Amino acid sequence: MADAPEYLYELWNSDGLGTWKILRHPIEKKTACRIFFTYPGGRRAAVSRQRLEAAGVIHHGTARRRLHLTPPDIPGPGTASESAPTREDQIAELLRAGATYRDVERQLGAAWAEARQVRVDRAIPFPPGRAKRFRAELDAADQAAARMLLAGASVEDIYTETRCSLTRIAALRRELGSRVPARPRPRRAVDEVLALYTRATADGGHQQWTGPRRGRTKVLIQGRTQRFNVRHLTFERAHGRPPTGRVRSTCGLTDCITGTHLADAVIRGTAPATATATATATERTSS
Ligand SMILES: [Zn+2]
Repeated sequence: MADAPEYLYELWNSDGLGTWKILRHPIEKKTACRIFFTYPGGRRAAVSRQRLEAAGVIHHGTARRRLHLTPPDIPGPGTASESAPTREDQIAELLRAGATYRDVERQLGAAWAEARQVRVDRAIPFPPGRAKRFRAELDAADQAAARMLLAGASVEDIYTETRCSLTRIAALRRELGSRVPARPRPRRAVDEVLALYTRATADGGHQQWTGPRRGRTKVLIQGRTQRFNVRHLTFERAHGRPPTGRVRSTCGLTDCITGTHLADAVIRGTAPATATATATATERTSS
């Protein structure tokens, strides 16, 4: 091979205190997807070529070693205060102020892995409220959560107050059973949901469904437990009887839920004889 050897460059916090060194790991081979290289001692490894080339840096392995395509700048000790703060400085500052990874992501657009790496590199402890808790503290939190459940508090409030996990709160609720007062859950009326998710086409000739669905069926979801097919609903309102078999639109427009544009098996003439007889009888009596 006539080409000069290529390397991946690792930024290494050699003593964990910010004495940075750059290690070079020779690249053995590049494929379309992977870059193969060797660590000192001859251990072979590979990283995603696309991800590395897109970001310029990738974190590898459980030790999350930082591998760069080109030699990275060494973060100089004490230079941070003089020069403009780096992105890592900004992340560190937020973490020290008690921000969560989610906060950091929101404010700086940094991935959680990146923020976690800064926390490890700079040994930033979790704030007291979010550190790991001992058994006695967990028991106290459980008791507080149970008291709040019995008093009718919401899960969000309990979580904020006690930091019990949502799974734990759900388990406590099961344990307490019927002693936990039911919380009224807001439910939209059917017509509200229809108004919310129905849009008239530009020519005004059709009503289109824009709401939640399951598969290709038009599904109307009300609250969390009740769900039904919105086409069945508009069909019944237009034809005065529940549909038989599948309901399809006849106007050729996808997602059309205009009742008069819908046909069931009876209208298509594909329903079993008994169903057709019942349906036509209903239509005769209702008209
Ligand atoms: Zn239509």
